[in-house]
Amino acid sequence: MDETPFVKFDSPKEHYIANACVVWCFDDRFYKLLKAFGKQEGFGHIDLVKVAGGAKALAGDASPDRDFVLNQIKTSVRLHGTKRVVLMRQRDCGAYGGSKSFADADAEKNELMKQLHQAQEFVRNEVPGLAVDGFFADFDGLYSAV
Ligand SMILES: [Zn+2]
Repeated sequence: MDETPFVKFDSPKEHYIANACVVWCFDDRFYKLLKAFGKQEGFGHIDLVKVAGGAKALAGDASPDRDFVLNQIKTSVRLHGTKRVVLMRQRDCGAYGGSKSFADADAEKNELMKQLHQAQEFVRNEVPGLAVDGFFADFDGLYSAV
């Protein structure tokens, strides 16, 4: 076969150990924040689960979405030896109607921090032995839910 690629690009063939499995909202306004976070943490490889609402489904009741995201985490652990999970929720997320769904900025942050804690607890129970961090993404940076 002598076919010209649509895009010519050399991807690495080596397998890797993931520094983290990251569950992040697909809202592109926060993609550069993810890159900055990864740089600060020194991530070489992450398994990125980029879905609307980020860790939203993990904080809720049993659902196909919750199963899906949890299975992505388990798959990251199985395939890439992942020992750390990063769960993200964000300011003004379309997955729950944006900031206008809350009384004020503090109420929004407090509710999402609470849900992050619920999601962290759920993942810790489902996949023992993982470090599970929660982060709230705001327009001025990333805040730890610890
Ligand atoms: Zn979002």
